[in-house]
Order: sequence, then C-alpha cells, then structure tokens
Amino acid sequence: MKTRTEALRELRRTLSEAGFDTAALDARLLLLTAIGISATDLITWPDTPLTPEQATTLAAFAERRLNHEPVARIVGEREFWGLPFRLSPETLVPRPDTETLVETALALLPDRQAPLRIVDFGTGSGCILVALLHELPQATGLGVDLSFGALVTARANAAGNRVGNRCHFALSRWADAIAGRFDLIVSNPPYIASGVIPTLDEEVRDHDPRLALDGGPDGLEPYRILLTEAERLLAPGGLVVVEIGYDQAEALSRLAGLHGLEILRIAHDLSNNPRCVAMKRL
Ligand code: GLN
Repeated sequence: MKTRTEALRELRRTLSEAGFDTAALDARLLLLTAIGISATDLITWPDTPLTPEQATTLAAFAERRLNHEPVARIVGEREFWGLPFRLSPETLVPRPDTETLVETALALLPDRQAPLRIVDFGTGSGCILVALLHELPQATGLGVDLSFGALVTARANAAGNRVGNRCHFALSRWADAIAGRFDLIVSNPPYIASGVIPTLDEEVRDHDPRLALDGGPDGLEPYRILLTEAERLLAPGGLVVVEIGYDQAEALSRLAGLHGLEILRIAHDLSNNPRCVAMKRL
C-alpha cells in the first residue's frame, strides 16, 4: 500500500495535470478527510500506509474532484465566520463574500447584548443566522427555507455551533407562512438571472442547488418579495440586510425606495464589489 506522502504526491500530480490551480490544497484536504486525520497527524506520521478502505475512499474522492465537484462538497464541510458548517445537496457552499453581510449587520446594531429577534430567509446551511447568533448572545433566530433538506442541515449546524437553543426553523416559501415582528431581517437570496445560470463556473452551475441560485428573469424577484414582506415583518427601528449580485446595487436602491425603505449602507466585498445592502424603514 502507498504511504500517506506517496498518495498525496500522486493525487496532487493527477489534479495538477488535469488543470486544477488548487491541486496541492485540494489533494491535502481530500487525503486528510479520506484517512480521517488532522494536518498534524500527517506531518507526524507521513509514512503510515493507507488501509485498503482509505485508498478506496480517496480514489472515489479523486474521481469526484476530477468531475469538478467542489472540495467543500466532497469533504461535506466548509468554514464560515470561523465556524464549521456541514453541507448537503440542498445547500449552497457558504462563500467568504457572504461574511460581508454578517459584518454589516453587526456594525449597524446599536447593542449587541439586546434580545434581538432575527429572521433569515433562504437560510440554506444556516451560515448567516448561526454566525449572527454566535456574535449576539441574547438574540433569537428563525431560519426559513423552501427546502426541507436545507432546514435539517441548518438545524444541525445551529446545534453543532452551540446556538441551537436560540433558534427555530420553518419551511416556508419566503414569508408566506411567517408571522411576527423582527428586529433584523437577513437574506442571501438566489439572485442570479435565470438566463445567466448556464454561463456560471461549472463548480457552481453543476453542483450548487439551482433553487439557491435562480433569482428569476432579472435576478431580482426574491428582493421584490422580501421587501414587500418587510413592511409587515419589521419591528420599529428594525433593519433589513441582504446580499446582492455585483451589479444589483442600483436596482436594489430603487426597489428599497418603492417599499418605503431607506438605504443605510452598501457594503463591498473582498474584491471591492458592492455585495450587501442594509436598509431601514423611512
Ligand atoms: N443563506 C445561505 C448562504 O448564504 C443560502 C443562500 C442561498 O441559498 N441563496 O449560504
């Protein structure tokens, strides 16, 4: 049997020859997961041979990666806001850009110790809601999604990150089944125009759930629904903070005006694209 180092080198070469820019990192993560060891274990015991089961698992992982499945999906986990999140076929892989939304919401809250009520529409893996509850020790949350599979994953992520006792999850098409008032409405809704989806990178197009991407003919449909519902769901002084596509800031500002909302901030992501819009009632 091959040793860990040999298996790593071989997988790195295969991926790199297949044109993967991140071959070294990918190979490492796949190897660690297939064997079930930490990076430290690998450094400490590089010459331990793989068991036949580990070799089979690694070969299956390699094949999936060669088929352009994102590493996060293969290992079933992705870090967001420094916290681990399990993924499922019904959830988007959390993106670093989405941390902009969490950051913006936190920056606009006057009191982080307040007992805020938060609702997250299209919660997916629950990454936004769980990150916020992690930072807001007295807050409670409701995660909403149209996909039952996503809700099961989100609930597990809330429990795994120790905020499970402060949130609930509900199956609903946007706010159709949701009542009550919230101090903070957040969402990273699907915002890709339907016609653009075929042109997306294949790792996104073929592996992220379409429901989590498709924002209708102009990509703005979910915002129209959410901003309409905000009038009914926002508590006095409440905030709406949503992620947007890089070219949607202007359209969002217009929509906000139509729904009696004032733009508080348009925040930029790490590539300096407008990525998040924060609003409050006029
Ligand atoms: N809220 C989840 C995330 O940010 C899912 C978003 C989505 O499915 N569009 O990852």
